[in-house]
Amino acid sequence: MYNIIDGKRIATIIKREIAEEVEKNISCGMKKPHLVTILVGNDGASETYVSHKIKACKAVGFSSSIIRFSDKVTENELIIKIKEINKDKDIDGLIVQLPLAKHISEENIIETIEPSKDVDGFHPINMGRMTIGLPAYVSATPQGIVELLRRYKIKTSGKHCVVIGRSNIVGRPVSILLSQKNDYGNATVTLCHSRTKNLKEITKKADILIAAIGQKEFVTEDMVKKDAVVIDVGIHRVKSKKTKSGWKLKGDVKFDEVAPKCKYITPVPGGVGPMTIVSLLTNTLKSATNKFD
Ligand code: NAD
Repeated sequence: MYNIIDGKRIATIIKREIAEEVEKNISCGMKKPHLVTILVGNDGASETYVSHKIKACKAVGFSSSIIRFSDKVTENELIIKIKEINKDKDIDGLIVQLPLAKHISEENIIETIEPSKDVDGFHPINMGRMTIGLPAYVSATPQGIVELLRRYKIKTSGKHCVVIGRSNIVGRPVSILLSQKNDYGNATVTLCHSRTKNLKEITKKADILIAAIGQKEFVTEDMVKKDAVVIDVGIHRVKSKKTKSGWKLKGDVKFDEVAPKCKYITPVPGGVGPMTIVSLLTNTLKSATNKFD
């Protein structure tokens, strides 16, 4: 019988912990943590992600604001705004919602954000510090995955962990975190990607399999070892006649056939997704309390 790793439940617990700390800090005279999101254009998915972040901020007692730009905004105009926010002492965290319009360089924008306000953990300084094990803001999804393993007391030390996907926001950083020399690292990590040969032979050896591929239900039962821990990062919207909204979410893992083989598995929705937002809140609280680690 498999166990569900309930990200929604863990996220609720962590949000309660954050709210309590915020309340305590305010009673000691500190200000509310403040998260600012820059949103360019009106892409539907980006609007949804940002509204979830704002809602989560409210729930834990943070201030939050959105700064909107049309998709005609120039890179320079954005850079000027980011530099202004970098200097604003009231603002603890800054997120620029990605993707940006094609004429804007995401690298230039990310590198303009002051690393101590980069609660998304995308700045090369934070990525670099995280890589060599120094205090850093760790990007939200990888941090959420490690926190799930920690809260479920799933040991990683000495385990073979296979990550599918090498993106800078999920696959690569999670592979680094799990190989770090610490309590929730010490794994032997294999990072697979689109050019990997014999993928199935590698994934079948995984004690912990992390799927961050971006292809719906890519991981099938024959790719998974019995009693593996499977973490599904994928999010895919598919049409459904069974839901009121007319759609439902699927992951990168074919849950129904893979789950019976697992010891632990994250569902989609309700697994990694809720942990991503919570990690952003955790980073913003760290910034507000100068606990830059
Ligand atoms: P991405 O498209 O940037 O990266 C996908 C990676 O998968 C690439 O590195 C590629 O090499 C690898 N890949 C593609 N096809 C492959 C194949 N056939 N075999 C092996 N490797 C292959 O994606 P991403 O931004 O890392 O996101 C991955 C998934 O996670 C997406 O579904 C995305 O929507 C989702 N996501 C979820 C959250 C969350 O909060 N749950 C956060 C970020 C991304």
